[in-house]
Order: sequence, then C-alpha cells, then structure tokens
Amino acid sequence: MPFTKVSAILKEADLHHTSALAFNCVDYTTASSVVHAAEAVGKPVIVMLYPEHSYKNRFCSLEGFASMVKSLADKASIPVGLHLDHCSDYAYIISAVKAGFPSVMYDGSMLPVEENIVNTKKVVETAHILGAEVEAELGHVGFASTKTDQFNEDMYTRADVAARFCAETGVDSVAVAVGSAHGFYKTAPKLDLGRLEEINAATDTPLVMHGGSGIPSDQVALAFEKGINKFNVGTEFFHLYHTTLHEFYKQYGTEGDFFDIPVYVQKRLQEYLVKKLELCRM
Ligand SMILES: [Zn+2]
Repeated sequence: MPFTKVSAILKEADLHHTSALAFNCVDYTTASSVVHAAEAVGKPVIVMLYPEHSYKNRFCSLEGFASMVKSLADKASIPVGLHLDHCSDYAYIISAVKAGFPSVMYDGSMLPVEENIVNTKKVVETAHILGAEVEAELGHVGFASTKTDQFNEDMYTRADVAARFCAETGVDSVAVAVGSAHGFYKTAPKLDLGRLEEINAATDTPLVMHGGSGIPSDQVALAFEKGINKFNVGTEFFHLYHTTLHEFYKQYGTEGDFFDIPVYVQKRLQEYLVKKLELCRM
C-alpha cells in the first residue's frame, strides 16, 4: 500500500494503548528487512533515516532512500511510514520533504525552550504546507555513553512545558526525555513513568521515546501503556548488522561468495526484528 502517514500509525497505536516501532535504516538490506519483518508479523512499522548517514556517511541519497522505501511500502500489505530522524537544520529538513519524506524531525532540544518553540513552529508551518508531518523534541534525550544523561532530571521533559510546547507549535508528535538515552546503556535505565503519565495527561500530541536499545522489556511495556506511541530503535539494530557481517566472514572466510552477504544478513536482521516487533501490541 502507499506510504501511511506516521500520524495515522501513531493514532492507531494510541487506540491500542501501545506504540509503533521505528527503526533507523541506512540501505536496502536494513530497510527491506524492517518492512519484510513487519509484514511477517502483520504490524505497522516506521522506517527512519538519520541525516548524517546520508550527507556524511553516504550510505544513500535522500531521494534514493525515500523512493526505495516507497517501493517497499507499495508492495507491502502493512502500513509503512517514512521519517527523517534528528535534524536541526531547517533547509535540510525541507529538502528531505521535497525529496519524498512525508515525516521529519526537527530537534531543537539543545536550545532554550522559547527558541525551540519558535524554530519548531517555523518547521511545522512549512512542512504542513508541503503536506509533511513533524516530530519535535522537548527536554533532551542525551547519550547513554555519558552514564549520567539518562539520570539527569534537569534534562527531562516537564508536563506543563510540554502542554504549552505542543499547543504553540502545532507539532504532530513530540519526543520526551523521561530516563532513556541514545546508544547502549552502561547502567540499566529507570524510566520515570510517573512523569510520562503526567506528560501524556497534559497533551493529546502523540509521545515518542528515543533510545530504545536495551530498555528492559517490562519498562517498555509500561511506557507504551502510559502514552508512548512511537518507539525509536537504532543502536542495537546497527550493531547486529555489523556483527552479522563479521559472523559471515568468520564462517566463510575468504572462500565465501560475498554476493551471498545481503541474504545472509537480512535473514539475521529479520529474526531480530520479528522478535522486537512483539513489543508492539497491534
Ligand atoms: Zn533519537
């Protein structure tokens, strides 16, 4: 089916008191694995691209990635959304929309709230005119490698600010900081579920959780019940991609046919994804 709006996927997730899963991808192997795994379990899914993986690491172009995921979505029987992850550059975000991304993130979480509001609103206004949707971030989801970000309540989202932020910006979804962090956790996270509940009660805007690699599944289940509708996973998916390539070479050495690599890797990625998608109760 054609791309499904990310907002429609999140709305459906909310009706089921659960969250859709969103995976960062870089190429055909990762994106096709995500779509085919979601199809195997009959659940909607969101494919995301991190801007740097295009402009810096050159895995793909924006246009190439968008049309590749579009063709995968067109052939799939489940709803597939496409989303540009973390971006703070207005011009780049608009270029992504024009390249075919129906959903984008503007990340002003490092800025003072007032500035974040002004910038987010500007992105929302332009994106909406172009028919695209916007996720923003309020509070700041830091990095697990610091060992302290995830516990720093000064970085957490406040419910009253979230209510004002969503009302003033008209944003379509908002990423919240309630104890998760990007990357592999050095210490097990402890999500502030009470705060999440308060934020969810303060706004009707769908809530997003970043840093989905390694949060204990009981906490994830509670976070979904208490208002998370989009759950981002990047690190552990990329790590598996990388270790599976190592595994291939370890198993076959230089005797292996390297043309077999995509099939070998996609099989392993899909096994992981099918399991991970069980978190989504739709
Ligand atoms: Zn993130």
